[in-house]
Amino acid sequence: MNASAGEIFFTSCGTEANNMALKCAVRDLGVTHVISSKTEHHAVLNTLENLQESDVIHIDYLNLGECGEIDLEQLEAILSENKGKTLVSLMHANNEIGTMMDIKRVSVLCEEHDALFHTDAVQTVAHYPINLQEIKVHFLSSSAHKFHGPKGIGFLYINGDIKVKPLMHGGSQERNMRPGTENIYGIVGLAKALEIACEHMSEHRKHIENLRANLKNQLITFLPDVQFNGKTDDEGLYTVLNVSFPKEFGSDLLLFNLDIAGIACSGGSACSSGTDAGSHVLKNINASTDRKSIRFSFSKYNTAEEIDFLVESLKKMVPVKVS
Ligand code: PLP
Repeated sequence: MNASAGEIFFTSCGTEANNMALKCAVRDLGVTHVISSKTEHHAVLNTLENLQESDVIHIDYLNLGECGEIDLEQLEAILSENKGKTLVSLMHANNEIGTMMDIKRVSVLCEEHDALFHTDAVQTVAHYPINLQEIKVHFLSSSAHKFHGPKGIGFLYINGDIKVKPLMHGGSQERNMRPGTENIYGIVGLAKALEIACEHMSEHRKHIENLRANLKNQLITFLPDVQFNGKTDDEGLYTVLNVSFPKEFGSDLLLFNLDIAGIACSGGSACSSGTDAGSHVLKNINASTDRKSIRFSFSKYNTAEEIDFLVESLKKMVPVKVS
């Protein structure tokens, strides 16, 4: 990523990295105004809400397009209003619908307006090349299990020009930034996973893109009424396909039946599984509530045979409308 070792701080996960970036920026860098979006991961949304409840920040949430794209013109307009020291926190790719943010463009806007920039890149590190010498980001969050590293380890990149204090207090590990004995197995596993992923990035990408296109095409063929949430073309995160089934086809049992068939997918963010609050992302892009949405995600380990199996299984579960 073209960061220096001194700019990387290991954390227990992406959630901790997001908390550290946002809370430290507000506490130590005089941030009083945050620009973000309602489709961020809860690790960002709930942290911002917590900061707002303590009356320390004012938040502007950007308008979203029908695929969840942020309004760059509005971002520029708000930045121009000079509402105090500003932090822009926008995710690089949405974990539910795959919509991506133009990280380069946002970084330039932030630089022009002297704003700090945090990006939750949990979905994109190791899947897309990110060159931190070319793109000016102040904070970037990542989590190893999104690229086949171990669970329980992540990192926060903090640009070397930025000086913040630790969020937790204790020993002097991680150059005084994150106390506690380091998770060596996790750190080594993360580094190895990142190395492997970066070495084979384009080959894995091609394989996964083919799987996603294959599923999309097969679904369109057997279910003409099918729709997709977010960007499903080259502009969208290639590891995710969010499928919107017509209500009469996709009952609440669909997820359950897929699970029984041995197919692991989710009704929203996997972090929210076990709750049935519905997807905050779909709500915020005004996706139809008459439809049932399921997120399928793919990795280098998935195969074309598995896509066929998924489609065959869906055909048995989903009664196709005869017109
Ligand atoms: N941000 C995004 C975009 C994610 O997809 C996730 C996890 O799914 C997280 C943050 C949280 O990461 P972790 O589970 O490592 O805390």
